[in-house]
Amino acid sequence: MTEKKEQPVMPVHRSLFDALFYRAQEAMLVLDRGLNVLLVNNAALKLLGWTEQDITGKPASALVLEKDLKEFFEMAELTAKNGVMRNCRFYLLTPAKSIVRLFLTAQALKDPSGAVNGFCLSLSPVSPDEWSALKDPHVFRAAARKLNRLTSVGQLTSMFAHDIKNPLHVILSTSELLRAQEDQPEQVRSGAELIERNARRASKIVKTLLDFSRSGMCRLEPHPVESAAEYAIELMDSSLKAGKVKVSKEFGKAPKVFLDPNYMHSVIYNLLNNAAQALDGAPSGEIKVSSGWLEAEREVFLTISDNGPGMESAMLENLFQPFFTTKENGTGLGLYLARQIMDEHGGRIVVGQSPEGGASVSLRFRKTV
Ligand code: ADP
Repeated sequence: MTEKKEQPVMPVHRSLFDALFYRAQEAMLVLDRGLNVLLVNNAALKLLGWTEQDITGKPASALVLEKDLKEFFEMAELTAKNGVMRNCRFYLLTPAKSIVRLFLTAQALKDPSGAVNGFCLSLSPVSPDEWSALKDPHVFRAAARKLNRLTSVGQLTSMFAHDIKNPLHVILSTSELLRAQEDQPEQVRSGAELIERNARRASKIVKTLLDFSRSGMCRLEPHPVESAAEYAIELMDSSLKAGKVKVSKEFGKAPKVFLDPNYMHSVIYNLLNNAAQALDGAPSGEIKVSSGWLEAEREVFLTISDNGPGMESAMLENLFQPFFTTKENGTGLGLYLARQIMDEHGGRIVVGQSPEGGASVSLRFRKTV
């Protein structure tokens, strides 16, 4: 029997880690379970202005504004529960106590038994202009509308998504092939797996954008909301059955509204999908789809509610943020695009708690027939 050659695993791992973490362009911090800073990379030091000695071993809360501490702890717990929380708007502090505005993504780190033993935070800075546009929904909406008129975002998105679909497909299939080759070193296979996972997520984003941009601008026509709901429920039917989710319908009397069926099917389908994912195959999982007329508001409503875990307060401010997600494979585009589309319909979305304690998302239409 030939003896196995000793592999210089550690130095290779070390230099790979240095390349991926310390010299990465993305600013990153690693925290332990108690939220103390274990590691910080060069990009994060540059972004926040601290030195490595300043923050290593210190509580990460030292980087957080007093008023945001509660939200920070809630975000950490949410990340521990879901595994990931992507693209939350957040502020961090510099040594001079000035504020850096950024999008924060937190990934839970787990030990071999699956217990969360830390977090990896990645930070991407946002310019003050982008920030105020994101903070003020009116500025953002006005800008989006202007862009829509000028370039027809739908068409642009769809062109972009088509163009990017093919190269992504090549990346995905090549990484799949590489991972499947048994004779590849573990390091190559795990690298291929990482590429594959990320390419899959990018593909999903592209698919969502394509689904939503199918018909370019919204073309509104008189339509009953309940038939749009029925159509989307039918599309979901097989996956709802597979997940053993019960769907109940309660359609009240309401006038027809002006809607674009193509877009609205995508919106409702996404909301149903979110509710089904929140229920995660729970045996008593139930989705309620209801519609009707609200006399006081003079609006037609279509509400999708579930008896899942509901939405935690740390999430509410970020829900309509593009790319915000707490799912490993989420795109974070569902609610963002839903709001854009409801805007185009002259309507709105109201998010709340269902009577059963889960989430309730209500589409409200003002333009009735
Ligand atoms: P995605 O589903 O790709 O994550 P969305 O924009 O549709 O993107 O949703 C953003 C986030 O809102 C989800 O990641 C999830 O945390 C939360 N969410 C949406 N719907 C529900 C729901 N019905 N129950 C609980 N959380 C929800």
